[in-house]
Amino acid sequence: ANIPDDQADDDQVLPGVKNIIAVASGKGGVGKSTMAVNIAAGLSKLGAEVGLFDADVYGPNVPRMLDADEAPRATDEDTIIPPEKFGVKLMSMAFLSGEDDPVIWRGPMVHKLLTQLVEDVEWGELDYMVLDLPPGTGDTQLTILQTLPLTGAVVVTTPQEVAVDDARKGLRMFGKHETPVLGIAENMASFRCPDCGNEHEIFGEGGGRTLADENDLPFLGGIPIDPAIRQGGDEGKPVVLREGETADAFRVLTENVAN
Ligand code: ADP
Repeated sequence: ANIPDDQADDDQVLPGVKNIIAVASGKGGVGKSTMAVNIAAGLSKLGAEVGLFDADVYGPNVPRMLDADEAPRATDEDTIIPPEKFGVKLMSMAFLSGEDDPVIWRGPMVHKLLTQLVEDVEWGELDYMVLDLPPGTGDTQLTILQTLPLTGAVVVTTPQEVAVDDARKGLRMFGKHETPVLGIAENMASFRCPDCGNEHEIFGEGGGRTLADENDLPFLGGIPIDPAIRQGGDEGKPVVLREGETADAFRVLTENVAN
């Protein structure tokens, strides 16, 4: 992992966490948070100790996707105990700002808040911390990359060309920061019509795989468009914990991330 120079071994950030995996996208709305939530719940289902850190400062909706209504608790030692849902320990900017408040964070504020969230929270020993990054490649993302010793990133795109173009910028950002990219995950890959049974490529075809191939990266898997995903997100029960083709697709993806 790329631990910044100013962090000596003995005050390593998150020493109890074995792997910090960032879920990133160039473009908003491609399903990055959905992926982060399902990967975290999927890893927990595989038996791992998992934390999920919602660092999407612009739209922190992970608590809702996990129906986490319990707030973090403060201890007498001024540390914070994160709520747990489906075996996943959860922290979110939403707990601090209120879900309905618009947030305008600048780099230094993000740095301060991140440091607090990471250092004061009792994560315990974790096999994985999944990090839901804000979309794009700005100041905030850089601050996060510089603050946390990432194991690697999962870059999410849809098959659509504009999403792939923006994901490419994301890859360059990780490249500049020497953060390994674990692979490409493609969301909204296809849609199976419940009436005719045919597959429809609503956002096009193959964009994720092309991006993976041209950068010599693993293709981690494709997730279809499925109303159950949207429903699972709104109701707070990740689809990976259900049965069916879409859940299977998320399980394959999760295993590829874990390997
Ligand atoms: P991002 O984090 O990239 O902004 P989200 O994960 O919040 O995107 O997803 C945006 C919306 O699309 C959410 O309402 C989510 O439930 C829905 N969604 C994401 N992926 C799918 C999918 N494969 N099929 C159906 N709905 C999806």
